[in-house]
Amino acid sequence: MENRKVRVRFAPSPTGPLHIGGVRTALYNYLFAKKHGGDFILRIEDTDQDRFVPGAEQYIIEALKWCGIEPNEGIGFGDGDCAPYRQSDRKNAGVYAQYAKQLIDAGHAYYAFDTKEELDEMRARFTAMKTTFSYNAVTRQNLKNSLTLSEDEVKQRLESGDEYVVRIKIPRNEEVRLNDLIRGWVVVQSSQVDDKVLYKSDGMPTYHLANVVDDYLMKITHVIRGEEWLPSAPLHVLLYRYLGWEDVMPQFSHLPLLLKPNGNGKLSKRDGDKLGFPVFPLDWTNPDTGKISSGFREKGYLPEAVINFLALLGWHPSGNQELFTLEELITDFSIERVSKSGAKFDIKKARWFNQQYLHKRTDEELVDVFKIDLGRHNVTASDEQIVKAVSLLKVKANFVLELTPEQIERDAAAKAAAIAEEKKKAEEAGEKYVEKEEKEEPRLSFWELGSFLFEEPATYDAEVIKKRWNEQGAAFIAAMKTAFENHTEWDAVSLENLFKDTAAATNTNPGSVMQLFRVCLSGAAGGPALFEMAAFLGKETCVRRLAHALNTIGK
Ligand code: GLU
Repeated sequence: MENRKVRVRFAPSPTGPLHIGGVRTALYNYLFAKKHGGDFILRIEDTDQDRFVPGAEQYIIEALKWCGIEPNEGIGFGDGDCAPYRQSDRKNAGVYAQYAKQLIDAGHAYYAFDTKEELDEMRARFTAMKTTFSYNAVTRQNLKNSLTLSEDEVKQRLESGDEYVVRIKIPRNEEVRLNDLIRGWVVVQSSQVDDKVLYKSDGMPTYHLANVVDDYLMKITHVIRGEEWLPSAPLHVLLYRYLGWEDVMPQFSHLPLLLKPNGNGKLSKRDGDKLGFPVFPLDWTNPDTGKISSGFREKGYLPEAVINFLALLGWHPSGNQELFTLEELITDFSIERVSKSGAKFDIKKARWFNQQYLHKRTDEELVDVFKIDLGRHNVTASDEQIVKAVSLLKVKANFVLELTPEQIERDAAAKAAAIAEEKKKAEEAGEKYVEKEEKEEPRLSFWELGSFLFEEPATYDAEVIKKRWNEQGAAFIAAMKTAFENHTEWDAVSLENLFKDTAAATNTNPGSVMQLFRVCLSGAAGGPALFEMAAFLGKETCVRRLAHALNTIGK
């Protein structure tokens, strides 16, 4: 086992948009593979055709690409030796049938012919007795399967094409042990495991069989997946044993859950809707309803911020470092430092990371993203100008993109719906619903911080005007306008000197007119460094804006 090449896989089912927790699973697999010079595979587990959602597979591929954690083998990323990588294609290629047969022949699985109605009836009988039905070592003795029916009848049913399923024959009382790299030894009594369906007469394997067979055939060495799969792990261990593959069984690591921001249970889409944050990497449009759920990308998060944030949700680095490039994450990553307990989702932290990475990017690197917003506002500007604007706005921004009116409207509707649902649930449970208002940090996007670099201000900050627009203030602005008209050099230093000289010449305390001057130029009380901003605007605009202020304020 030791000298096998590390091979891990991310094996999502295309049942909808990839949850951000799924992205974390993919990330940990990616980091582990890269750290050990191994392979990272994307396998699409689409055996449950009832839950198949069109577009979900493409979404998964796009999300991994956006995050920069690309598999080196698998659907959307090129074939390796183990193609095909989609389970429905593998089923069509006849991959699974032989293993179901092998298990039956070895006495570890059996045919079951019980109809849905019969099983429903059985369930109802158990419920009436206040217990829960499970198809297991005890109940299978009284059900319609190849262990209870005569050999002839089984043969005849199979030949006449009766519908059946193949179930694993779980031993009645046996200890199943597995050594989870995160949790240590996990011991389960086989009586806790039921005779799960492995295969159906239409040739479709279930998740359990397909997952184990494919991990074996794809030479997977480590299975790193969400905690929700831990209850299935003993069954998988038994399958490896019964198929004779125990010596190459992958090592399991079950990742902790992502919890709600308050730590009370699993993070859901409703939590995101209620508190206004995305739980998906990219926007997702539900193909049935056309409804859009928002994603980190469209909300203006940078992928490297999302990756850093997710890496630390459940994993502790070796030191105190918080900001990691992907390369640094690869170097420091270790499964042993993944925690057993759930990780609280903290959107404030995600925003903090976004701000950090925004500052880390060069001005040039932010131009293309900022252009999206400029385009929305019909602004055309040269790349050179945009780079300058970026350098002015970057300091205070925590997002490049602002939210569109559609996004704001959608968020409000999603929030209202989530709250209504919570209220209803509370009422049904006879509890009082208390709405906690979460204080949100303001979103400071480039456009919000500095639209005035490209557009004439539509209004002037009312508070500053009220406080500072008086005779002296107005006289100073008029003096500045004249000074601007007579000035030719247009860099920040010379403009600052001009401002100071004008203040001295008019006997004005510069501190008392500084903000007013800013508001007359930009409309806003805050923003980028004042004289840098004036330099950016240029002579013509500065003069025009001061003239406009003089003509309109107080009129
Ligand atoms: N198809 C499973 C899922 O959707 C994969 C679980 C596993 O990794 O074994 O999460």
